Amino acid sequence: MNEQSCLFCKIILHQIPSYIIYEDEHTIAFLDIMPVDKGHTLVVPKIHSTNFINTNDEIISFVNITAKKVAKRIEIQLNTSAINFISNNGILVGQTIEHYHLHIIPKYSSNSGLQLPKNQIVVDSKKLTTLQKKLKIN
Ligand code: AMP
Ligand code: ZN
Repeated sequence: MNEQSCLFCKIILHQIPSYIIYEDEHTIAFLDIMPVDKGHTLVVPKIHSTNFINTNDEIISFVNITAKKVAKRIEIQLNTSAINFISNNGILVGQTIEHYHLHIIPKYSSNSGLQLPKNQIVVDSKKLTTLQKKLKIN
């Protein structure tokens, strides 16, 4: 997907309608049209990049600053401080739009909002140490 065919680039350029709730020089925030729960919002950088990992550090900062503003607004207007901030990085984890975005998903009760299955396993310390060596950033 390139910038010309990118849905979120079209929203940024106001070429297609959207429910924008915040906009500044670097970012835009609009309501997700298929919300997980009321107030589900996407924060999107105005510069196209495919995913979180491929996005410039400064832009990631701008996205997070906007996310905090939006979350505070949700907290006050929709009366909840339980919020998931999530970004899908790759098709396997559910990314459908190849323009980096951060989901802000409020939750109002234990059976609403985002239900993240916790597929946790117990791992022995030897395996954790091996993995630690492999992943350690010096
Ligand atoms: P992801 O699956 O993480 O890439 O998230 C893409 C999100 O974009 C989904 O939650 C969609 O519901 C949402 N979405 C798709 N098209 C639009 C649109 N035109 N306006 C607002 N949200 C959209
Ligand atoms: Zn784009």
